[in-house]
Amino acid sequence: MKLEDIGFYTLSDARGRHYPCIIYLREWGDPIGELGAQTRIDRLRWAQEHDTHEDPICRKNCLDVCVDYNNKARSVLGNSFYLGEVLR
Ligand code: SF4
Repeated sequence: MKLEDIGFYTLSDARGRHYPCIIYLREWGDPIGELGAQTRIDRLRWAQEHDTHEDPICRKNCLDVCVDYNNKARSVLGNSFYLGEVLR
């Protein structure tokens, strides 16, 4: 997984399930998972393993403000950002 393939906007919740963002929910994308004790870990895992550059929902619908947010987060975190340590 390359750093540039990681999304940072995994925050929206709905009906006991959580989604990577409101756009993903609106476009009938699959939820990340159920809300519960594993929610944060599931979000980190989704962010690490999901290539938004290849996802048709993201490619077609992502908003400029979300792309800018993701790019700014990536510029602050730099190459030291590695979720593998968190997921162990
Ligand atoms: S649509 Fe944009 S903000 Fe939503 S999951 Fe895809 S890349 Fe992330």
